[in-house]
Amino acid sequence: MRKVALVFVLAVLVPSLVLAWLAVRSLRDQQFLLERQQSLLYQGVTDSLAKALNDHIADQQREFDSRVEAFANGNDPRAAAAQFDEQIRGTWPLAEVGFCVTLSGNLICPTCPPTRNTPELRNFCLDNSAFLGNRETVEVYWNDNSGNTKLMGQNLGSNQNAFDSNSQQSLSQYQSSANNSSVGQNYSSKSQMRKVSPQKSYSKEVANANADLQDGNFSKVVPAEAEFSQLVGDNTDGMLARFLQNKLKLMFWHRLNRDRDLVFGAQLNLSRLVSELRGMIQPDPALRDEICVALLDDNARPVALSRAHFAAQWKRPFVATEIGEALPHWEVAAYLVNPEQLTQAARTARLTLGLLIALLVLAIGVGGWLIVADLNRQLALARQKTDFVSNVSHELKTPLTSIRMFSELLAEQRVADPAKQRSYLQIITAETARLTRLINNVLDFSRMERGEKKYNFRDADLAGIVRETVETYRPHLENSGFQLECSLPAGELPVRADTDAIAQVVVNLLSNAEKYSGDKKRITIEVARRDGPLPCAEVKILDCGVGVPRGSEEKIFEKFYRAHDALSSGIQGSGLGLTLARQIARAHDGEVIYESREGGGSCFSLRLPLKMS
Ligand code: ADP
Repeated sequence: MRKVALVFVLAVLVPSLVLAWLAVRSLRDQQFLLERQQSLLYQGVTDSLAKALNDHIADQQREFDSRVEAFANGNDPRAAAAQFDEQIRGTWPLAEVGFCVTLSGNLICPTCPPTRNTPELRNFCLDNSAFLGNRETVEVYWNDNSGNTKLMGQNLGSNQNAFDSNSQQSLSQYQSSANNSSVGQNYSSKSQMRKVSPQKSYSKEVANANADLQDGNFSKVVPAEAEFSQLVGDNTDGMLARFLQNKLKLMFWHRLNRDRDLVFGAQLNLSRLVSELRGMIQPDPALRDEICVALLDDNARPVALSRAHFAAQWKRPFVATEIGEALPHWEVAAYLVNPEQLTQAARTARLTLGLLIALLVLAIGVGGWLIVADLNRQLALARQKTDFVSNVSHELKTPLTSIRMFSELLAEQRVADPAKQRSYLQIITAETARLTRLINNVLDFSRMERGEKKYNFRDADLAGIVRETVETYRPHLENSGFQLECSLPAGELPVRADTDAIAQVVVNLLSNAEKYSGDKKRITIEVARRDGPLPCAEVKILDCGVGVPRGSEEKIFEKFYRAHDALSSGIQGSGLGLTLARQIARAHDGEVIYESREGGGSCFSLRLPLKMS
């Protein structure tokens, strides 16, 4: 049995638990993949929006270039340069202040201190005259439209992927290539944390997997300390951004084709630029219901939103992309419109599959337990069958021995006394009857097992059947020292029955009463009508013997079951008598039941339905 349990555990339980564990793991991976796909999709949206904004700003830069060339065309540029501020502001709404400076640092326009005393000009002079005059280095984010520009712009546009584990690496690559340029030696020390920290994913596992990313959430836009002439270098045009009193200032500059010594520039009106960009902040129409995209300024405050009145934790977008050095620390961020939906869908999927797995494991467990229980039963049955063979052999042997012994004595005429001869003959008859009974029981049992047992039902009187059977059995019992009392009703008890089968039941019960009576050799038979909702005829066979041990009251009706072991009790038996008695009674729509008797002994009752006239 232990072996079977071990096989079950090793072959069924352990593999199914392992499978369940694998299923749970793959479920988690599925969720991870799903979130990753979603994250990549939205990252694509913010990346392409950031690129579109950069492109728009680059277009504006080209527009500025052509305006400068048009301005200088035909005139003496140096003579006209003094008018540049007025001219560019008057014709180009994006310009806040126009300036013109020579590479050697001679600020031609505007004159500082300014002749026209507007706050913009005053501040411009204060902030930029020393810088444009190459008298001081300032912290600047720059773009010169050369190879470096491309490196910066493209890196910033595409390497914000939430799952790009190399972003740290690409940052350092970027920094080292920037360090190789002539401008700025302090890039690495200037790297700053991003103002927003994209959530990357809502699941803990993914967040942990991306712990490195979370830790190294540095801005890819790095300022450098430089003088204006260093920024210009050999280039023709570019843009540069500075933070002054925490306010972003953006400038375009262009070097004149005709006179490479002259640099024209414009400080941009940021709020106008932003209102131009605002219309571009829209996700793909298919994603409009899923995400809200926002343009965040350098303080992570939304300046443009794709959905009006949308509110979120602005510093915690789902994904975000930095725009680049044109708008340093500005980001295009995407927020989930319904963040619950993602976790809810994942939770529902996990719950459903979890339940399914639990159910399957439970089914395997219960199935396994049923198999083991059935195996157990089969093993017990096999054991009982083996016992049965040895019990039956024993039961056959005992009467055969007596029959043989007494018949030999009689055959050899060694017994002269006629009384003894008669007694020997009675013993032979009784033992033959016992043999017949046993063989009948075995044969009937095998017929019943094969479903071949036939009954010959007819109208009969139960009291009559019992009377006849008891009278046939009485001499044997009385010879064995039993006191037999039989109380029969005055009238008949009409039943539909196979009289031989019912007689067999009565004989089996009587024979058991005889076997299990021990020293108290007193058997009572009571036959009576039993009234109730379903009136029936009842035969009770009572003895004063050992009784059925507690707990075995129902088991004694199972095939081969013996509550009194032949070895310990010395009582022979096949374990079939009560099984047959009950099956015969049930075939008559009746029942055989056991009740213990007060003061010891057993009471077996055979009940048959009364035939209504
Ligand atoms: P057996 O051939 O062993 O008597 P039975 O099917 O007739 O087989 O009975 C099953 C078991 O029920 C017996 O082994 C015995 O333990 C118990 N039993 C039957 N009749 C009695 C009784 N009158 N008193 C006590 N125990 C009984």
